Amino acid sequence: MSYAGPDFEPSRPRRSRRGPLTVAVVALVPGALLGWLVYEAVGGPGDGGGSGRAAVRTSAPAAPGASGSPTVSAAPSSSAPAATAPLKGKVVVIDPGHNPGNFRHPTEIGRQVDIGTNKKECDTTGTSTNAGYTEADYTLDVARRMRKLLQAQGATVKLTQDGDRPWGPCVDERARIGNDAHADAVVSVHADGSAAGNRGFHVILPDSVHQGAADTRPIVGPSRDLGERVAGSFGRVTGSAPSNYVGGGTGLVTRKDLGGLNLSTVPKVFIECGNMRDSKDAALLTDGAWRQKAAQGISEGIVSFLRG
Ligand SMILES: [Zn+2]
Repeated sequence: MSYAGPDFEPSRPRRSRRGPLTVAVVALVPGALLGWLVYEAVGGPGDGGGSGRAAVRTSAPAAPGASGSPTVSAAPSSSAPAATAPLKGKVVVIDPGHNPGNFRHPTEIGRQVDIGTNKKECDTTGTSTNAGYTEADYTLDVARRMRKLLQAQGATVKLTQDGDRPWGPCVDERARIGNDAHADAVVSVHADGSAAGNRGFHVILPDSVHQGAADTRPIVGPSRDLGERVAGSFGRVTGSAPSNYVGGGTGLVTRKDLGGLNLSTVPKVFIECGNMRDSKDAALLTDGAWRQKAAQGISEGIVSFLRG
């Protein structure tokens, strides 16, 4: 998949200086679009494409010596003031929906797991664009971009899968990973597979479920707060409109049939970032620069929720 957006491959050689291209691009970044995060479009920490700093708070610029570390949360520079890590101590779990390998493991992902209300498939393959770009590739890419942005804010970030396993996890395990991490927030990233002409994003909130192993009652309120913030910032940063086919224009949908929500004991939402089967939405979802905005929109919602 070729795209014109930011490159987050970690293997590229690191440059020590901010190049003229970086400066030019930064100068073009519309501040209103990015809110309090200033993203340097040609590079994140450690990828060598730019100054080595993916995101800074405009109100508290990091010292030059603080840049260049891809693991700000784990190993902050001793010279970095605390203000550069506002999410220090916070745990965020990002759940990239599906798995690029699920297609090759129909038996494993087809087995039934208990989601409290009923049994359901362990996992599904997810959808794809008409040209074959898979939802699983999309979700993993956005999740990795989010990880960089949130780590730069000092958060401890865990992915439920990182392309490091052949299939899954199952939806019950996805929930358990967030629970066991005592996550302060969990976001499951998806893109929808609906009819052409159906466009836009929606955030899925857990409904109140108290059945079997599921008890979402304690998380319904905080999850709504998280979801409203994610929907708001996603729309603002990407410029996308709320779904025109579910949610009545609010961009919010409440469901009780998703194991990943039913079994969560920590605040959690899903986001369907767009409809892969619509050509206009697909053009966005397959564009790396747009995916960076998607990652930033979701991340800003998480940050807003965690900072209260
Ligand atoms: Zn999905």
